[in-house]
Amino acid sequence: MSDVTFDFQRRVADENSTSSRRSRSPSDRTSAAASAFERASGAHLWDVEGRRYIDYVGSWGPMVAGHTHPQVVEAVQAAAARALSFGAPTAAEVEMAELLCRLVPSLDLVRLVSSGTEATMTAIRLARGFTGRSLFVKFEGCYHGHADALLVKAGSGALTFGHPSSAGVPAETAALTQVLDYNDAAQVAALFERRGAEIAGVIVEPVAGNMNLVLPAPGFLETLREQCTRHGAVLIFDEVMTGFRVALGGAQARFGIRPDLTTLGKVIGGGLPVAAVGGRRDIMEKIAPLGPVYQAGTLSGNPVALAAGLATLRLVDTPGFQSRIEATTRSLVEGLAAAARDARVAFSAQSIGSMFGLYFRDAPPTRFSEVMQCDVQRFNRFFRSMLAQGIYLAPSAYEAGFVSSAHDAGDVAQTLAAAREAFRQAA
Ligand code: PMP
Repeated sequence: MSDVTFDFQRRVADENSTSSRRSRSPSDRTSAAASAFERASGAHLWDVEGRRYIDYVGSWGPMVAGHTHPQVVEAVQAAAARALSFGAPTAAEVEMAELLCRLVPSLDLVRLVSSGTEATMTAIRLARGFTGRSLFVKFEGCYHGHADALLVKAGSGALTFGHPSSAGVPAETAALTQVLDYNDAAQVAALFERRGAEIAGVIVEPVAGNMNLVLPAPGFLETLREQCTRHGAVLIFDEVMTGFRVALGGAQARFGIRPDLTTLGKVIGGGLPVAAVGGRRDIMEKIAPLGPVYQAGTLSGNPVALAAGLATLRLVDTPGFQSRIEATTRSLVEGLAAAARDARVAFSAQSIGSMFGLYFRDAPPTRFSEVMQCDVQRFNRFFRSMLAQGIYLAPSAYEAGFVSSAHDAGDVAQTLAAAREAFRQAA
């Protein structure tokens, strides 16, 4: 299995962006072996050639209960047999909205959409419509989907591929997005001091998972809350990634901060397209048809997608689910850090809930500039060695990893055995 490399993984993890842009000949493709996954079960994926991988990507977050969980698959099959789409309200939509309002502390009302991008785009329009202001604040390295206003100094693939501020976004649009440093509370206070009356809102990943994993510094989220309240701006927690991962009630429950609006996605669709925006009643009532802020979607609240999401959330909402998955994640990062120490590789790792970060530097980064100091070439060697040994990590030094409830001690032990070899190669 030593020459196994997926086309897209090779592209993403390539340390040399020039060589990654070279067109690839048919013979390249043959030597790259598999180019696609074919099936998945629990914590494992299989490629088209039948090779098995332990999966730490989880479709970039949604698969918190593991792949093809029988209860989720059965729910989807039953829903599909009833109807694929109505374009009209369904009982599942109401059930999802009620469940989200029960589990996530700050939600009074919820609007369902089909992707995280739609959720954040709607939240921003809503904040602008509610305040009558235009300026928005985001943080460098945070990714909130691919709406124009948010592709400014973004993270995730935009950062990996070297386009954190995307082409095609008009300068006039980008000028309405003010980008600050994540975890720099003083900068936030200074901006509000100068331009507080112009700021419609602040959008933040309460735990940043699109520039590797960066935890909020003590006081940072509190400052955002204070400043938004003082200046009448809308605080949006983008919990598309952290929702049902950092804690059952999301990062807002874990850190005890109440945002005005929250965006959710990933886990709430269980692998199918469901996302949501929700929050304070007085703000949410501005969405059409109750209010003047327009939003719509042909497939929003789709009954098959909701069946997957509801079945997944019922699993997530069982006693012990979060604590078990959190313990598995912790044992993984502790084992990886120990393996790196033995191999004398500068490395650190940390987790929160079922999300983790791996850093080729001595300590976990606390800000974007420190993320950029991680040794990317070493990460790429480590990634390739792990992949060749059947361990599928996110193919970028700028993405968080995800553990599911299907990962067991055997998966972790196999991962750590592979990591000992991979650290030797990375060193
Ligand atoms: N917000 C965050 C925090 C995300 O991580 C992502 C996707 N990784 C999005 C928004 C966008 O979600 P989607 O890809 O479903 O549009």
